[in-house]
Amino acid sequence: MRIKRLKLTGFKSFVEPTELHIEAGLTGVVGPNGCGKSNLLEALRWVMGENSPKSMRGGGMEDVIFAGTAQRPSRDFAEVTLLAEHDAHENIPGIIANDDDQELEVVRRIERGAGSAYRANGRDVRAKDIALIFADAATGAHSPALVSQGRIGSIISAKPQERRMMLEEAAGISGLHVRRKDAEQKLRAAETNLNRLSTILGDMD
Ligand code: ATP
Repeated sequence: MRIKRLKLTGFKSFVEPTELHIEAGLTGVVGPNGCGKSNLLEALRWVMGENSPKSMRGGGMEDVIFAGTAQRPSRDFAEVTLLAEHDAHENIPGIIANDDDQELEVVRRIERGAGSAYRANGRDVRAKDIALIFADAATGAHSPALVSQGRIGSIISAKPQERRMMLEEAAGISGLHVRRKDAEQKLRAAETNLNRLSTILGDMD
């Protein structure tokens, strides 16, 4: 997956709609202290499903919405759009159906008092679907490729279990754990139904 564009509206200090084109190769973001460089990286993590307000440097998720300044009133919503190009083998059932359609557009929007919602290629999707899309592409809100301030120290001091999770995310297999959990739940439900059925059949004998 290659990220091509990021659009921000009302997200933290980016009150006006702002569009960033990310070209192939190395991209650098430079600017004076407090101009919003870290906010950009946070927007990228947020649209990929970040759910911890703490890692967004806020007390609650609504803190990502532009809070206003002395000159400008606050906003009621924040929206981040990510446009990416998919590799041919990364078909996503229901969202990217065939090899010809390789553009993925993910939109996350949060409104005050109403929580946040996601769309992928124009369809309403769940946070879980978004997590799977990015996990399968070996990226996502917790990708080890997104190195924010203090992250190196936390990797060095991480427990073996936490390091293993980072490696699994980098290898693109963390989505398999989610699918395995789902499959196990379905299996348990089917076993319960089978037990109930055999009890009913036993009663009928
Ligand atoms: P540094 O180089 O010091 O790390 P930076 O360029 O990474 O700085 P950020 O930390 O991304 O800057 O941006 C901080 C700015 O974003 C601050 O001016 C802060 O007031 C503003 N900001 C953060 N959240 C909001 C919000 N919800 N509404 C309005 N402004 C916000």
